[in-house]
Amino acid sequence: MTLFSTKEKKGKYMKPKKKVLSALFGGRVDRPPVVNLTSVFSMEVMEEVGVTFPDAHLESGKMAQLASSSYTLLGYDSISPHISIVHEAAALGFKIDWGGPDRLPAVQGPRLSKAEDIQVPQDFLKRDSIKVVLDAIKIVKKNFGNEVAIVGKILGPWHLAMVMFDMEDFVTSMVTNPDKVKKITEIYKDVCVSFANAQVEAGADVILVGNVGNREFCSPEMYRDFVGDLFDELPIKINAPTILHICGDTSDRLDFIADSNFDCFHFDTKVETSLAREETKGKMSLAGGISNVTLMEGRLEDVEREVTTAMEVGVDLISPECSIPLQTPLRALKGIAEEVRKQSREGRKELDEAGDSG
Ligand SMILES: [Zn+2]
Repeated sequence: MTLFSTKEKKGKYMKPKKKVLSALFGGRVDRPPVVNLTSVFSMEVMEEVGVTFPDAHLESGKMAQLASSSYTLLGYDSISPHISIVHEAAALGFKIDWGGPDRLPAVQGPRLSKAEDIQVPQDFLKRDSIKVVLDAIKIVKKNFGNEVAIVGKILGPWHLAMVMFDMEDFVTSMVTNPDKVKKITEIYKDVCVSFANAQVEAGADVILVGNVGNREFCSPEMYRDFVGDLFDELPIKINAPTILHICGDTSDRLDFIADSNFDCFHFDTKVETSLAREETKGKMSLAGGISNVTLMEGRLEDVEREVTTAMEVGVDLISPECSIPLQTPLRALKGIAEEVRKQSREGRKELDEAGDSG
């Protein structure tokens, strides 16, 4: 069951998948697509779907079912089956606390201290925590693959290193031992690419690369020197369009981001939307625009205002800025898709048709 008709009529509206893929390259769309790129699964969404954490991280059928609710329940144009950010660490041998309905999973350790400690198992892609993601993508592909864009997700090499190493020690090493940092991220780069391409083979249309790298983390120059080459290389090695996600304020390094080979930047609302647009114009698409604070507070007039700004400024894919807090009310999450439809001509027709069919 879907909220809106996906019957594509010639000269009328585009299927959700087409909208997303076109918008990713700044192309023609009938209305901006609304996407989930990280996680929109609040406790209220889980309750509505009847699937909760941690089952949605551990069973492919449940992962696919909860993930698909971004389309079937919220009315978005994409589905992101890979919900949490610990699956790579689990497959690399780390102990994981898989959390609960009101708690996200977390890596328990033991943290590594040098590049030589990294062990990538030969059967990395066959490990349970990786297989569950790949199988969930296959299920979503079978059920919705012709209609909806499937977004795969990996942690970028830096982010993976932050999860696997002692964070403070890793950040200090950027100054005291840059070779060590480069060695570590080089090893993780191959892990990232293999997981990304396995998701593409399973059916992902797009890959989101989550990475650290805001101004609280390092200077723009360090960002360029440590991540620059990686970010040129990763999107070329990944066999699908790529979206870069960085949490926090990246205002002072938007030029480096725009010059990378990523097709789209999923930005945090700590970056002024108009600045993000200005700095990336003609170079990459933009995704985001809706702040987690707004969603969490749940006032629909605030959601409406942020959707209006995002559409006016020209954000290509409208989306929550990051994984939403688990307490986020369902009405706010639905509100994004409803507002985007209300504020565009084709969207209003979709709403009318959904109303007519009951
Ligand atoms: Zn984020």
